[in-house]
Amino acid sequence: MLPPIASNFVAGETPAAALDHVETLNARGVAGIVNLLGEHYTERAPADADAEAYVDLVGGIADRSLDACVSVKASQIGLDVGEDVFRENLARIVDAANAPPGSADADAGDDTPGVFVWIDMEDHETTDVTLDEFERHTTATDGNVGVCVQANLKRTPDDLERLADLPGKVRLVKGAYDEPASIAHTKKARVDEAYRDCLASMFEAFDDGIAVGSHDPEMVAYAGELHAEYGTPYEVQMLTGVRESAQFALADDGVTVYQYVPYGDKWFSYFYRRIRERKSNALFALRAVLGR
Ligand code: FAD
Repeated sequence: MLPPIASNFVAGETPAAALDHVETLNARGVAGIVNLLGEHYTERAPADADAEAYVDLVGGIADRSLDACVSVKASQIGLDVGEDVFRENLARIVDAANAPPGSADADAGDDTPGVFVWIDMEDHETTDVTLDEFERHTTATDGNVGVCVQANLKRTPDDLERLADLPGKVRLVKGAYDEPASIAHTKKARVDEAYRDCLASMFEAFDDGIAVGSHDPEMVAYAGELHAEYGTPYEVQMLTGVRESAQFALADDGVTVYQYVPYGDKWFSYFYRRIRERKSNALFALRAVLGR
């Protein structure tokens, strides 16, 4: 069972709990990005099982008419087993998302966009295959797929040039993986500078949506300035349990806000990461447990 201390950062253990959480977000003007926790499977069975869970999840989102999408990790759906397994499972999810079982889409065969599918970005060894699969699916679905890129990687400005010509949305994050200095900026100030530069080039060159995947008030404000200058549509994405009052305030101000909503029984390592990355997260969780 999910202990109260973890429930600040994880919506619950079941898809129903995650979708209930999204419903409460939607009521406050915030959309959801639902993520089933799990990664780095080295056997096919759990990778296939999680892909199947995403197929059910997109059906649940469509059935409940929620303002929500999903986000999936390559290593969760088979990349560590083999690229072919990842490709096959991603195709299953994207196909289901574009015609969720039992939805009006599937029944009527109309061209209403289905459930949007994000692909998270993992360490640098996965970048090429992830971008290639993104390109395949976003082109085939007319932009109903998004991908994450990491400002800390030195290759990202070049990747953005390629992505600018494709439909679909791109989420810019600072990067969560410890990468070698030969290929990545490792100092925080340099990563922040790279983030700003990437954001500016995206607003200038992209037509489809830009997602600002950051809790950093400076980056969120900068995105607002760039939007005023270029008019490119954008959204802000933050995690469950992190700066939630800012998420609701931005939504009240008319900014499109998505909350990344993790769920599932593999919550411990995700929760531990949140606690380790910031002292305030630990205090916040502790205060919630003490009821203050
Ligand atoms: P930081 O650089 O950590 O902090 C900057 C400022 O933000 C802080 O000074 C503070 O003012 C504010 N802030 C940050 N955290 C908190 C907090 N807990 N409480 C209060 N204020 C805070 N990484 C990947 O590598 N691949 C992915 O696919 C990926 N997807 C992501 C999706 C989303 C929606 C988000 C939000 C992040 C994702 N990340 C991903 C993680 C990302 O790369 C960063 O590691 C993470 O977001 C920390 O960077 P930051 O920009 O949020 O803020």
